[in-house]
Amino acid sequence: MKLIFAGAAGTVTGSRYLLDTGRARILIDCGLFQGYKQLRLRNWARFPVQPRRIDAVLLSHAHLDHSGYLPALVRDGFKGPIYATPATRELCEILLRDSGHLQEDEAAFANRHKYSRHEQAKPLYTVADAERAMEQFREVAFEEEFSLGDGLYGALLPAGHLLGASIVRLRRRKRTLVFSGDLGRPHDSIMRAPVAIESADTLIVESTYGNRLHASDDGEARIGEVIRETAAKGGTVLIPSFAVGRAQTIMFAIYRLKQSGQIPDLPVFLDSPMAIDATELYRRHRRSHRLSVADVRGMYQTVRLSRTAEESKAIANLRMPAVIISASGMATGGRVLHHLKQIAPDPRNHILFVGFQAGGTRGAHLVDGDREVKIHGQWCEVRAQVSNIDSYSAHADSAEILAWLRKIRGAPSQVYVCHGEPGASDAFRQRISEQLGWQARVPEHLECVDVPL
Ligand SMILES: [Zn+2]
Repeated sequence: MKLIFAGAAGTVTGSRYLLDTGRARILIDCGLFQGYKQLRLRNWARFPVQPRRIDAVLLSHAHLDHSGYLPALVRDGFKGPIYATPATRELCEILLRDSGHLQEDEAAFANRHKYSRHEQAKPLYTVADAERAMEQFREVAFEEEFSLGDGLYGALLPAGHLLGASIVRLRRRKRTLVFSGDLGRPHDSIMRAPVAIESADTLIVESTYGNRLHASDDGEARIGEVIRETAAKGGTVLIPSFAVGRAQTIMFAIYRLKQSGQIPDLPVFLDSPMAIDATELYRRHRRSHRLSVADVRGMYQTVRLSRTAEESKAIANLRMPAVIISASGMATGGRVLHHLKQIAPDPRNHILFVGFQAGGTRGAHLVDGDREVKIHGQWCEVRAQVSNIDSYSAHADSAEILAWLRKIRGAPSQVYVCHGEPGASDAFRQRISEQLGWQARVPEHLECVDVPL
């Protein structure tokens, strides 16, 4: 069979792998390219094969760099099923619709400001396209094998990382082709460890942190410290956070800190409708995380939910020690910007980032110590304290991925190292061959290889 690396080769976004069995074409993940413009332009290029000629999509998880191109694929003619776990389908419903909104907003903005070179800027896809794509989802439970025809079977196995996230396994007779998807961490506070894979003849492994180890500092203790110090000064802690996954980890940490009396019982606001919807899924999909019923209830009771714009404004006018969790995580857009304008000028406040801040984002400027940031076209003075906890990550680091690989019995005949920046992927390829003695290489974008299946 032929496998084409149609994305996530030498980069961390645009996960798309096309398997051609000779009779059918199966796409594993259908992600958006994000980040640098030269990558984003690939979202506008013609898909490597006509979408109507693809028979099925297997989706590892809901993050947009794995799922975000689905609305365009369906609009352009893909008619087949999209296999995903129930939690992935529900998260996609939230994320793809939001992505459709963002695409429409971006096009409208470009048209208003006439910076598009085209006559009329068009969105990559619309909310209606996203809704149509949702109709083709077909839920499959974790570990359940489903037939893809021609003696080929697919299965989605728990990967940790995010609610519903899976490792994708394709099997024909005794041969298997395994895609790691995004691998979670063995000791995450909310998500379970990724399951061990017994065997893989061909393995496609992610390498986001292929050349790095996560900091071992205790994120929860640091959050506690910041909240205590800020509350003592009468200030507010603003936590910009990605709405899905990270926001829930932070809520859980604050719940535990309150439970153990390590922080005062101050109001905590979750100001992001998307984060509220995502949190609801933790109630329903209990088997894919470690939280007990009491933990989830406690997490909810710890925060005050703010859905409407009025509720959001009411928080901004509050003058008392509080914690506000709001999206987006790199302060590039969303409600967190309104809070930033209020919080940043007051030295009693603290802006606490809880994730990687990509270069060029407002978050990165703040973490780098800029004392002025532009928000909604106006300069805003920053006198609040700013810090960043970077020990939170939903991805296994290089040692953790290696430990996961060691559990595979027998060497895969070939490993392809994907989903990493060039340096990370190459460092991880080297580690695999030195420490495990396996055949490993980093494929090129659009490279086509033969896989035994
Ligand atoms: Zn992911």
